[in-house]
Amino acid sequence: MKEYKFATKAVHAGQDSDLFAGSVTVPIYQTSTFVFENVEQGAARFAGKEEGYIYTRLGNPTVRALERNIAELEGGEDARACASGMAAIYAAVTSTVKKGDHIVGPDSLYGGTAKLFTNILPKFGIEFTLVDSSNPANIEKAMKNNTKIIFVESPANPTLKITDLKAVSRIAEKKGVTTMIDNTFMSPYFQQPLKLGIDVSIHSLTKYLGGHSDLIGGIIVGRKSFFKTLDPVLKNTGATLAPFDAWLTLRGVKTLPLRMEKHNENAMKVAEFLESHPKVEKVYYPGLKSHPQHELAKRQMSGFGGMISFELKGGLKTGIKLMNSVKLCMLAVSLGAVETLIEHPASMTHAIVPKDERLKAGITDGLVRLSVGIEDVRDIIRDLEQALSGV
Ligand code: PLP
Repeated sequence: MKEYKFATKAVHAGQDSDLFAGSVTVPIYQTSTFVFENVEQGAARFAGKEEGYIYTRLGNPTVRALERNIAELEGGEDARACASGMAAIYAAVTSTVKKGDHIVGPDSLYGGTAKLFTNILPKFGIEFTLVDSSNPANIEKAMKNNTKIIFVESPANPTLKITDLKAVSRIAEKKGVTTMIDNTFMSPYFQQPLKLGIDVSIHSLTKYLGGHSDLIGGIIVGRKSFFKTLDPVLKNTGATLAPFDAWLTLRGVKTLPLRMEKHNENAMKVAEFLESHPKVEKVYYPGLKSHPQHELAKRQMSGFGGMISFELKGGLKTGIKLMNSVKLCMLAVSLGAVETLIEHPASMTHAIVPKDERLKAGITDGLVRLSVGIEDVRDIIRDLEQALSGV
């Protein structure tokens, strides 16, 4: 599908109807296991001498269609779908490091990833240094002889800080270190990190790729050589995706370009509205000229996405009042879906990050995060306006 444009690939890539008995949509192969013709065939499949399916944890045609689809969209050689975004991050990271290795990561990142890096992996002898990655010099300074991965999240959750991906890949190349990005906030529609030199791109499928708040999944995109070391970890920890969730994601991805355009358009208007509102102290959105990395965002992303964070004058107390007063925006964690979701990082998505680290990373008590949906933007703004009038 190389010759086709993004929106065409989103609908068709990996979904060759010849493979699926002429079916226009990919069927859900809702089976745990696959029959062998004889013992020799079973043995050949286990030995990797014959192509074919064995057992759904090890591979499934619906899941494979999704992997081929996202690999095409992101410009990677291949992809592996996982049970969640966290399963994808866990598998990608642990397949690359061993006891005694070191990872450099960003200080502002999704709370679950922060917990994995600072509480769980250190138990297995893996060291972390978390830095403000919006300045690549901080990454370079944190590198050690045993550094194996530079992990970034850009734009970061929830501060919307941007990391210069070309600069990061140059630093890593000099030292022979693997680079990984959590690309969830942008989706492959607005940012294609592999083209900027990053080795591995990871998404929570739960967000923009699925797009409808109805599934949990993750995906890892990279070079074929990466999957040789990843596959044993993924398959033997059982972190693979279920066929029904793969099917829901494939359906979601077909409209990814349309949805992303609308998220982007709506978020820009909402960010401008918030920035001009007298009760709002500060708005973080890469599309605003006031974002300190607006120029970098324009260079490495083709849109600014649907995620906004903001602080109200009066901080936490007024933020809580606002979140309890919205009527259309839904008070819920997660992001990247058709519905506008509002949440409070300090007590919800990032509650597991120790307070001092959270504050140092810019995730203040008063920060409110908004995932702008694809509703009519006039309704979203009207809802925020009525909620703001009462704070
Ligand atoms: N990465 C980012 C940026 C996220 O916001 C999240 C979840 O909110 C994850 C990863 C984890 O994804 P999942 O919930 O699918 O495990």
